[in-house]
Amino acid sequence: MKQFKVPSSKFKVNRSTCSFSLLTLYVLLLTVLMSCSPKKESIYRKTMIQMDTLVTINVVAESGEKADMAMGKAFGEIDKLGASLSFFSDEGDLSSINRNAGIGPVRVSPDTMEVIERAVLTSERTGGAFDVTVGPEISLWDFAAKQKPDDGKIRERLGLVNYQWITLDKKESTVELGRKGMLMDLGAVAKGFAADRAVEELKKNGIKSGLVAVAGDIRAFGLKPDGKPWRVGIRNPRQKGKDDELVATVELRDMAISTSGDYERYFVMDGKRYHHILDPRTGYPAEGCRSVTVMATDGVSADSFSTAVFVLGPEKGMEVLRRMGFEGLIIDKEGNMTTTAGMKDAIEFQRSN
Ligand code: AMP
Ligand code: MG
Repeated sequence: MKQFKVPSSKFKVNRSTCSFSLLTLYVLLLTVLMSCSPKKESIYRKTMIQMDTLVTINVVAESGEKADMAMGKAFGEIDKLGASLSFFSDEGDLSSINRNAGIGPVRVSPDTMEVIERAVLTSERTGGAFDVTVGPEISLWDFAAKQKPDDGKIRERLGLVNYQWITLDKKESTVELGRKGMLMDLGAVAKGFAADRAVEELKKNGIKSGLVAVAGDIRAFGLKPDGKPWRVGIRNPRQKGKDDELVATVELRDMAISTSGDYERYFVMDGKRYHHILDPRTGYPAEGCRSVTVMATDGVSADSFSTAVFVLGPEKGMEVLRRMGFEGLIIDKEGNMTTTAGMKDAIEFQRSN
């Protein structure tokens, strides 16, 4: 089997790790609606369905009007990105790129160019464990119908998966997939990018503190009216009860956090769990982890590296997190939890775990 060759990098951050036993995740907001401060600032929250998922925006503002105006702009930005980066939409940049695979370059917006460029960078830094050209394999899997694709088909389509066949021309603002049948899927990076853009929009509209959660891809800035940082929960990937059970909560100080987990889209067949994060070397679900949470200063890094580290598995994944200078929590396939050293300052594990 091919091995991912993770390139050595200039970013050397030497940190020791710390192991814990048990549990996993999902990211849940722990914010309190409308908590008031002496300055009469309040937290305003709105949730909408965008990018085929739940998007929640919290902002600290002096008035509902100001909050509504800023949140409206941020939701507008997410909507625009959703239309252009969706794998399923027939319109927009991504579908044009896919329709023209093996045919020719497609002119795209600066946002699309940026997100693809960043995705390719993550591929390069993870030896291809992250690969947005995994689309032909992804489209074989139907998790809702609990259908495992034919092994021969999976093998055959591996010949269409390779981020090195993406050509980006920044001057012309074009993107090209080099082979017919290739499919780009930005599902592992677009939500983090949308969270980044939404935060920019909130700031442009005078908001000093807020939190944007595009499903499990979250970015926070500023402090809450009580002077405390925003806090999010990390879900246990193997829920025992009905309710969302957390393994830990994390303080976010001007940071982004993302979680990739094997519980988001999956089915179990003959005692084996098949989920939506694929190993681009094999076309099958990656096996080393139950979930990976990554904290970074921007949403694109947190989103793309949580997926990449999941594929790399706990050891290589932890090595990449340290090298990149990101913080994170890995819950391996046995339920063992390992964090980067810096994560210890921000994370609080739930007592019952
Ligand atoms: P996330 O939940 O951010 O980890 O993203 C998972 C989604 O990214 C999947 O539903 C696929 O659409 C896509 N994906 C799956 N495996 C990979 C991979 N190895 N590299 C890039 N994208 C992937
Ligand atoms: Mg991701």
